[in-house]
Amino acid sequence: MENLEQPLTPDGEIASHSRMFGRKVECDGCNAKLKAKDAIYHRGSYFCNPTCLATWEKANPPRMAQGSPDELKHNLIHTITSALDEHQLGQGSVLEDFATRMIPLVGEANADLDAQVRSEHTTRFVEYTHECIPIARALGYHDEVRVLETFGFGGDLRNVIQALQSARDKAGFVSASSAGLTNEP
Ligand SMILES: [Zn+2]
Repeated sequence: MENLEQPLTPDGEIASHSRMFGRKVECDGCNAKLKAKDAIYHRGSYFCNPTCLATWEKANPPRMAQGSPDELKHNLIHTITSALDEHQLGQGSVLEDFATRMIPLVGEANADLDAQVRSEHTTRFVEYTHECIPIARALGYHDEVRVLETFGFGGDLRNVIQALQSARDKAGFVSASSAGLTNEP
């Protein structure tokens, strides 16, 4: 037997069931229930077989940004830069958190405000990241798109950040520090 600790959730029964038999997911093609490990994962959905996936893909063509390659690259660099900026702002600083804890009475209101501001930055990071996907797809950056599509579906944040940076590099991003110039192409 593995871990016997039970989750304190209303669906604790389902959680302990799935712990014993593998997490169940639903095929987005035919709604059949199957184990996550037996399912095909694609664009944020699970499928029981390639036929279900192909049928679904035909009915749900991926969003694709419109524009010339130069326009798309310009948009992508701009959107990714915005996403990464928001991500950074959403992180907060360890020093700030430390200072807040040291003066609890004065710091409490500030801490609430900081948490709210950080969560707003994180929300915008998520929005910008999702905005990047149709642009990167239109440019044919399939490896990056595959990673970005895992965002919010169990994908590792570090991989998502890496994919954003990689897509931005492919689009011809030149950092101000390495070129001594502006970010805009
Ligand atoms: Zn199916």
